[in-house]
Amino acid sequence: MKPPSSSPKHDCYIGIDIGGASIKAGVVDSHGKIRAQRNRVIAHETLPLLSQHIAGIVGELKEADLSLEVRGVGIGVPALVSKRKSRISISPSLPYLNGVEFKSQMEGLLGLPVSLENDANVAAYGEMTAGAAREAQDFVYVSIGTRVGAGLVINRRIYQGAGGFAGELGHISVDPEGKKCFCGSSGCLERYVSAPSIAQRVEERIVLNPSSALQIITDRPINAQDVSAAALVGDKMACVIIGEVGRYTDAYN
Ligand SMILES: [Zn+2]
Repeated sequence: MKPPSSSPKHDCYIGIDIGGASIKAGVVDSHGKIRAQRNRVIAHETLPLLSQHIAGIVGELKEADLSLEVRGVGIGVPALVSKRKSRISISPSLPYLNGVEFKSQMEGLLGLPVSLENDANVAAYGEMTAGAAREAQDFVYVSIGTRVGAGLVINRRIYQGAGGFAGELGHISVDPEGKKCFCGSSGCLERYVSAPSIAQRVEERIVLNPSSALQIITDRPINAQDVSAAALVGDKMACVIIGEVGRYTDAYN
C-alpha cells in the first residue's frame, strides 16, 4: 500500500546563545528567516542543569513548526573555544564549562550535528551574513557587556589566530600598572569598559556628586544602563563616565 502523501519538510537549523544569565535560541530556515524563538532566564550552576535547559529548548523549537526538519545546532558560548571547536578552554562567566568537550557532549545529548564557537565570533558571523556588515569585507565586531569580546573578520572569514583565540580585545592591557584582572594580567580593557566596571565607577564617585540624577536610584544597585540613560539626558557625572569609557574603547578604532 502507498504511504499517505505528506508535504516535504524544509531544512532548518537551531542557533543557541548561552549567556551568564539566560539562553536565547531560534530556529532559522535555509533562507535565514527566523521561524521560532525561545528565551530562558536561568541560574545554571552545573553542567547537567545547563544540558537539561538546552535539551528542553531544542525540543520546544523542534515542536514549534512541524514543517521544519532540524539539521543541526550552532552554539555560541561566552568562552575561549579550542581551535578544533570541540572543547571549551576557559569560560570566566561559566567556570563549570572549563575543559569540557562540549561539542561531543551536546551531539550525544541532542542527536544532531553541533557547531561550537565563541559568542562574539558567532555574532560577527551573524552581522556579516544577515546584519550590519553584509557589505563589509573586513571588520571588527565588539561586544561590551559583562565581558568584552570581539570577532575579527578578514576577507569575509572569521580570523581565528594561531590558537583559535584571536580577537580577545578585552584582555589587551591598556594600563600595565592598572587594575588587576581575573586573567592574571593588569589593566585589561575589560576592567575599564565592561558593564560592571561602569557601575563600579558610579559607586566610587556618587557620594562626591550629590546633584547627579543617579542619586534617585536607592532601592537597587546602579547599572550601566542607568548610566547610559542618565548621560542621554545630560547628567554630568554620567557623561564624564561614558566619556572615559569612550576614550578607552576609541584607542582601538
Ligand atoms: Zn584580563
